[in-house]
Parts: sequence; structure tokens; C-alpha cells
Amino acid sequence: MAPMLERFVSPGKGNGLQAKTKIRRGVLITSTEPLAYCVSNKWAREVCHHCFTRCETLLRCSQCKTARYCNAACQKQAWPGHKKECRCLCNLLPRRPTDSVRLSARLIFTLLNPPQSNSEELYSIDEHKSHLDLMPEQKKEGLSELAAMLELYMQKEIPDLKQRMTSELPLSCRETLSIIAKVTCNCFTISDGELQELGVGLYPSLSLLNHDCRPNCVMVFRGTELQLRAVQDINPGEELTISYIETLSVTEDRQKQLEDQYHFTCQCQRCSSRDQDGVMLSGREDAWRQLKEALSRLEGLQSESNWRELLESCSDLLTNVGEEVPDENLYKLKITDMALDASVHLGRWEEALSFGVKTLPAYRLYYPDPHPVHGLQLMRVGKLQHHLGCIEDALGSFKEAFKILKLTHGEDHPLTADLMMKMEECRSEMDLQPSS
Ligand SMILES: [Zn+2]
Ligand SMILES: [Zn+2]
Ligand SMILES: [Zn+2]
Repeated sequence: MAPMLERFVSPGKGNGLQAKTKIRRGVLITSTEPLAYCVSNKWAREVCHHCFTRCETLLRCSQCKTARYCNAACQKQAWPGHKKECRCLCNLLPRRPTDSVRLSARLIFTLLNPPQSNSEELYSIDEHKSHLDLMPEQKKEGLSELAAMLELYMQKEIPDLKQRMTSELPLSCRETLSIIAKVTCNCFTISDGELQELGVGLYPSLSLLNHDCRPNCVMVFRGTELQLRAVQDINPGEELTISYIETLSVTEDRQKQLEDQYHFTCQCQRCSSRDQDGVMLSGREDAWRQLKEALSRLEGLQSESNWRELLESCSDLLTNVGEEVPDENLYKLKITDMALDASVHLGRWEEALSFGVKTLPAYRLYYPDPHPVHGLQLMRVGKLQHHLGCIEDALGSFKEAFKILKLTHGEDHPLTADLMMKMEECRSEMDLQPSS
């Protein structure tokens, strides 16, 4: 682990990570490969199960017919980790394990045959919290079902699983239920540069990172490698934090999500001051309540990719009710974003651009620190402007996006490289235009 951070006891939060040195905004604090990981079922056909590259044509494992790879090299490198899993997958066919079952099995295989060079971890799986004592019964039941599925999945490959777990694994890892609970509480979602969620992984040392609703660090992935970067200047001894959840929501909702999912009450500065709640809920309440209530139906249309109906509903709401509410209102912002998404999918570029432009002041307001979501939104707007021939505007948006993404993703990230190329394209197109 890089020498910029160290483990410490964070007052009121238990274990945490703190800065050992002064860390400037944008600095790569550490990068690490997962102890265990897998592509999520949703993306199993489109993403290489070894390197997480998205690819149109992937080679399929001839045995389990589940794992897919870019090429023979990826398949070969994946084989030592996939070999046992492959037989489990075959045994379960035609059923498929859930993502957390598949990841838990991978973790158990790793724990039973630990790699030699893992002494640098700051935090062991044994120390990971399962939070079983804090969970409501219903959630525990759900996890028990997953644990039963895990046992069934591994049964043929390791018939004496319980025995081996008891004799070879640390005390807190001997039950499949506690493994499942540890995995669900501590796994990270692995996303691509554009924040599309592709899979799940365990990065034990970074599980020490505590949450803050205005964090000083951000995680970005390159393939399966997790990169942690500072988004604020950090002093020695200061705690390093990330956000476990989408920060674009009001205090009450953030706290509820953190309690349900992570079993703690957030006491960060943003929660104590309820900073931004007022502006997120600005405008006439009876109007924004209508927008808020429409959200779940609209999200349904979005997940069904019903773009035509989604765009129609969003446009109706924004014209009839949205006028009563400022653009910064959280629910109006969410609906404007969905309208943007729908119009992009329908190829209605001008509409898309007008929705995109409307969201930018709110993004600027709600993401005071560099944040990938803000950078990506600017990039999206820039691409629309470019496509519609507004080259100068596009270059302006790309430049703003670059200011953010070079800090959150780093200048050598493929996404940032892609952005730099777009800026170059704009510059050369402007040189070609006759001056007026
Ligand atoms: Zn690959
Ligand atoms: Zn296979
Ligand atoms: Zn908070």
C-alpha cells in the first residue's frame, strides 16, 4: 500500500484511513487490484470477465458457457481464478448464481488458497464487519437464502465445504452466512470511466474508508484496478473519506439509505448542517411534490428503455408543473436528466442539448468539489454541442469537463484521453472555419 495513507481509529466510527502526508487535490493516493471480483450478471455477455473491457464479440468459456473474454490471453490469465468457479457454474446450470453468491464463492476459493503476496493489506477479511447483529430479521432471511444458494453452488466442487471452512478459515469466516454478509456490506461496485456499473469486487484495505456526504476522496476504476484520488487538499492526520451513496439527495433520504444499507447514522458536517436541503427543495411545494411523486413511474419507464413515453411524460411535467419550480430543485433536476437521457436515445439532439444545458448550473452548485458525475455531464453536453456544429460551445464544455476529470480520473485515464482528443478535434475544426 502506498505510503500516503495509514490505518487509524476514527473517533466514533471505528477503523478508518488517514493521510500520512499532505495530499493535494487530484493526487492519486493509492491504486489496488481486488482480492476477488466478478462481472455482474447484467453485463455477463458484454464485458470481459478478466479485464472488464466492453467488447462486441467475446470468446465464451466452452465449459460453463458463462464466462466471456476479449481474447485467448485474457482467458488464459483468468483460468487459475476461474477453474474452480467454472465447475460450480456448470453444476448449477441452467440456474445462475447471483452476483454476491458468485463473488462470495470466489472469496472462499481465495481464502482457502491464499496468494503469497497479500501481507500488505491493512485490513483482513476476518476483521470485516458482517453487521448481522444490526440487521432486521427480513434482511437476515434474505442473506440466509443466499447462503443456502452459495452452499448449493459450491457443493460438488468442495463437498466438505463446512469442514474446510471451520478448519482453515479465521473464526469470523467459518459460516457461509457471515461470508455472504461480509461480502454484501463490504463489496465495491466496479464501474467503467463513465460510471456504468459493471461488476463487484473486494478491496479489503479500502473497506476501511469511512463515508462522508461531502467526501475528500473519490474512487475511479481502470478495468478492475481501483484508483483513489483526493478531490480536496488533505492535511496529514486528516481522515480520508468517500461517499457510499449518490450524494445528490436531501439529508433525510441520504441518512435513511445509509442506515438501511450500511447500518450507521451519518453525522458528517453536511448532515448536521442540513446544508443544501433548502435549495434542493426550493420552489412551490405542491408543485415539486408532484414531480417527486412522478419519479418512480418515470424510473420504471427508464429501466424498460421506454424512451418515447419517458420523454413525453417528462416534457409534460416540466412544462405544466416544472415552471413553478427553479432549475435547482432536486426533483426537477432529476426529471430534466431523464428527459436528456430519453432524447439522446431517441436521437433528438436539439432537445437533448437544451435539457443538458439546463442541468449544468445545478450540477455546478451541488458538486462544489470535482466529481466524476459533473465532469461526465459536461462531456455529454459538449458532445451534443459538437454534434450540432456549435464547435466553440463544445470546446468550452470540454475544457470545463477536463478541469474536473483530470482531477477525478487523472490525465492518463482512457476517458480523459478521449476527452483530450475531442478538444483537439474542436480546435482543428475551428482553424478550418472561415473567419467572419
Ligand atoms: Zn479482457
Ligand atoms: Zn468456465
Ligand atoms: Zn452525512
